[in-house]
Amino acid sequence: MSDVRQYQMLIDGEWIDAEGNRRFDSVNPATGAIWASVPDASERDVDRAVEAAWRAFSTGAWSKTNATERGRCLRRLGDLVAGHSEELGRTETIDTGKLFKETRWQAAYIAEYFHYYAGLADKVHGDTLPIDKPNLMVLTTREPLGVVAAVVPWNSQLFLTAVKMAPALAAGNTVVLKASEHASAAMLEFGQLIAEAKIPPGVVNIISGLSEPCGRALTSHPRVARISFTGGPETARHIVRNSAENLAEVSLELGGKSPVIVFDDADIDSACNGVVAGIFGASGQSCVAGSRLYLQEGIADRFLERLREIAAQIRIGDPLAEHTQMGPLATRGQLAKIEAEVARAQTQGATVLLGGRRPQQLAAGWFYEPTIIECPDQKTTIMDTELFGPVLSVLRFRGEEEVVSLANDSVYGLAAGIFTRDSARSLRMSKAIRAGIVWVNTYRIVSPIAQFGGFKNSGYGRESGMQAIYDYTRVKTIWLNTSSEPMSNPFVMR
Ligand code: NAD
Repeated sequence: MSDVRQYQMLIDGEWIDAEGNRRFDSVNPATGAIWASVPDASERDVDRAVEAAWRAFSTGAWSKTNATERGRCLRRLGDLVAGHSEELGRTETIDTGKLFKETRWQAAYIAEYFHYYAGLADKVHGDTLPIDKPNLMVLTTREPLGVVAAVVPWNSQLFLTAVKMAPALAAGNTVVLKASEHASAAMLEFGQLIAEAKIPPGVVNIISGLSEPCGRALTSHPRVARISFTGGPETARHIVRNSAENLAEVSLELGGKSPVIVFDDADIDSACNGVVAGIFGASGQSCVAGSRLYLQEGIADRFLERLREIAAQIRIGDPLAEHTQMGPLATRGQLAKIEAEVARAQTQGATVLLGGRRPQQLAAGWFYEPTIIECPDQKTTIMDTELFGPVLSVLRFRGEEEVVSLANDSVYGLAAGIFTRDSARSLRMSKAIRAGIVWVNTYRIVSPIAQFGGFKNSGYGRESGMQAIYDYTRVKTIWLNTSSEPMSNPFVMR
């Protein structure tokens, strides 16, 4: 038990246990062993965190910190995260099974998000309106909303934390971050950097806990002004219902079943690399996983042969090892779900071309082989079920119109990939696909500068880019009488 790392939560600048020292275990998905113990926040703990954030926002130090200084805080935080990317990445890998190569790189890259919004902090301003009335001047100001609740899933903990908190803080809000119950450690460790970045106590509070009571109490708390949620669509529905309590603004970044379309004229090697990156990167546990592959008939056989060759060579194993290319799934529940869905697809007539099972040499941990499944038609359940694992469903198509209709036949609309050498076609297709992000001849790239978000059941609201900082503000309209005359009698019409 002594090897199990003990974590605490950050509330009002102090490291504390949950009320009654309630805790839950975190499991290393590569070994199946308990490696950390995490506080399970009660309703009262949530209340403490939100009240601390409210004080910091309304009367505390943050309310007196100007935008330039907020930018400096974010810049320092970005530098600190980049400087600690090795340790933070390692913790995230042990907690989630995501490759260390990727978590370390991602922890370093999130510095860019803090730096980008550090630069924007003092560029948020209002307007003077050319009003249609005499002797009046009308100004608008942009003000922060107040306490932002950021709720994230277990994959890409730190990345999603940065994407939410950087614009929120830049705009002058304070935050309560809720870590996922499946992987809280990296976010709690990241909390150590908040004081070092000279961000005042209460501005950033980090809590861990289960959906009930912690998640519900946070997202329905009367002091919360905005909820920024990333997770699954079912949870999103609960959160929207919770927000009926506090009437908080909500943004939702949800899952997907993103189509990747390869035309006959595509560069096969490049498209294969794009497909592999899209579905086997992060073991397919990515919201933008390119999990539906549509292949044009003329290229389909050759493409599948090449894809199988590449996917069969993926080195699966210890996510901390530098040579590993695919780690485990994050939870035992994920593994069970994927096994059940692959079995169901086979009963519906789908053919497993590669994988479809746990690797025999890896008995411990939640590993699953890279899997390619050719489906008989669009109705096969896995064509529109988000598996969140390394499972690619494949369907062949003949023409452009047909594939647009197949790609759009989904409850989701987060991302899409198009591989073709025909630039006019890539433009037509980009316009026709109903998804928030379209990658042409590339896949799975993000940046703080580019907006991110989905259509349909993939959510609403956008993260990243200039707009995100405005989304964390609201407009106040100020009417000024510029006349030196007193106001006239309102009952005498002129
Ligand atoms: P999840 O929806 O189960 O949980 C996400 C978070 O919500 C967790 O912190 C959880 O504790 C909290 N939560 C659960 N029930 C709640 C409730 N009733 N009230 C308040 N909070 C509650 O998601 P997950 O299984 O951890 O993550 C996988 C999902 O996240 C997938 O669907 C994936 O596609 C999605 N995802 C989306 C993006 C994106 O940017 N679009 C990024 C990563 C993951």
